[in-house]
Amino acid sequence: MAEPGSIAEKVKQQADIVRIVGDYVRLKKAGQNFMGLCPFHPEKTPSFAVHPVKQFYHCFGCGVGGDVFQFVMEIDKLTFPEALRAVADKIGMPLPERRPRTPEEAKATQLRTLLVELHEHAVRFFAQQLLQTKEGALARAYLNDRGLTDEVMRTFELGYAPGTGDALLRKLREIGYKNEVLQASGLVNRDDRGAFYDRFRRRVVFPIANERGKVVAFGGRALGEDMPKYLNSPETPIYSKSRILYNLHRAKEALRRQDYAVLVEGYLDCIAVHTAGVGNVVATCGTSLTDLQVQLLGRSTRNLVVSFDPDAAGAAATERSLNLVLEQGFQVRVLTLEPGTDPDSFVRRQGAEAYREKLKDSLRYIDYLLLRVRGLYDLKTQEGKVAALNHLLPYLARVPNRIQRAEWVKPVADGLGIDDALLLQELKRAVVGRVEKLTVSERLQRPAAKIAERRLLKIFLDHEEFRPDLAKELADSGAHRGTSTERIFEACLSALASGGPLEVSALAEGLEEAERKLLFEVALESGAPGTLEEARSCLAALEAKQWEQQLRGLNRRIEEASRQGNAPEKGRLLREKQELTQRWQEFRRLHHKDTLTP
Ligand SMILES: [Zn+2]
Repeated sequence: MAEPGSIAEKVKQQADIVRIVGDYVRLKKAGQNFMGLCPFHPEKTPSFAVHPVKQFYHCFGCGVGGDVFQFVMEIDKLTFPEALRAVADKIGMPLPERRPRTPEEAKATQLRTLLVELHEHAVRFFAQQLLQTKEGALARAYLNDRGLTDEVMRTFELGYAPGTGDALLRKLREIGYKNEVLQASGLVNRDDRGAFYDRFRRRVVFPIANERGKVVAFGGRALGEDMPKYLNSPETPIYSKSRILYNLHRAKEALRRQDYAVLVEGYLDCIAVHTAGVGNVVATCGTSLTDLQVQLLGRSTRNLVVSFDPDAAGAAATERSLNLVLEQGFQVRVLTLEPGTDPDSFVRRQGAEAYREKLKDSLRYIDYLLLRVRGLYDLKTQEGKVAALNHLLPYLARVPNRIQRAEWVKPVADGLGIDDALLLQELKRAVVGRVEKLTVSERLQRPAAKIAERRLLKIFLDHEEFRPDLAKELADSGAHRGTSTERIFEACLSALASGGPLEVSALAEGLEEAERKLLFEVALESGAPGTLEEARSCLAALEAKQWEQQLRGLNRRIEEASRQGNAPEKGRLLREKQELTQRWQEFRRLHHKDTLTP
């Protein structure tokens, strides 16, 4: 497209494709090329190459490729002349005025130019309404109330759309905009009779700029009880809401410098966080995060802190957003605030410093998810652990990088208290293999009965002569609690308590299949007759197992308190551990050590 000797050829010679592409894609030197994640198709490992000498790009994944102009045309959806001008602008090379190629193209370009200019007028008009009119004073008071100073209002070019219904319309007509342009702007509506009126009325308006800082739309927040509370510009030739992140143009430098982004939901959240000294903040504004927005962000950084409203809807939005960003290979952390608090109200009440502290304390996304599942499932049971795992696995499966995925195994196992070797093995297999659901085998659901349990059950079933004594000791110690045979022993105890005989077939009726099988198996086993002494050492072995489990759980909580820097909690847990260890040692003194192998 760039013919020799043409202006395009000159621009191309002076533009460095690595630099131009580098504005959109994070490129890393790899051999003689530069590689990055393709901006034209979702991918997890870089297959997008830029050749610095031959000055072209190519994606090994989706096959796109071309010169610097094609790249800009594709990525910014521009025509060739527009791309030429954009590249010339980027390298600071003046171009002579050009003549458009086709009449349609000329018209479309002209309309977009007019719309951008029109929005500039609208920004000024709304700002003047906010800062200099009586009606606007109410809006200003509302914003002041929310902690926004006049300076902040100017920085974010906030405005006010008056209630008259045609104030902006009249202004724009006065400037000379024709109906066709007005309608395309999305800033005016038409009623049933075809008359025009302002889209935004009695609202605080937030200018929404594209990546290059051109205002292309507005978001409006109702001042009174007007519905909807938030109203945005519709899609227009210059605005597509799925492609825009609020505040990105202001945040871009900070994003690259700090190599992470803070993502919030609303305009006011975004402004509050920015004002708190966190420049690298962007907002989704009403839409849930889209692929295109994630890609847009990915040009600057692949590290993200999600700071949403912690209510139920906020948590769901957080998890949906996590899915998308994880797929694109982002590292994600989650900043959680107390329920009923959004970033805006938090900054107002607790101050900027407190928010920045919260930011530092944000949780790795896996820890955030673990915190959530701990509230949802009973992790004391094997079933609860499996259910919690199945809640987590779909998220883990989205992490594209295998090594990174494997790194989650330990925190998940620790967080859910998984120490069963078999379950741990299943977890590893699922996480590394991106399996989204564990198909739970019988063995997994209930851990296999240990030798001591089986032997105890056998003696219990076979020896009527000391069964009442044994039953009492079993019930008192609760040694069977938490074992795979718990329900079998409970059935035995209640049969005894009700004075009935201990019939295996009757016991089996109230049990689940795996338990029933085990009961029959044990009852059918042949072997040496047992003694009360042997039964007692089995009991002690099971109790010893419980002690160990308690200690392990305690150690896990200590580790966690330590990681969170929660010194008082850690101290309390350490004292608890000391006490438990002492009681455990006493227990060991009472029982012969050799018998304590569960
Ligand atoms: Zn590609």
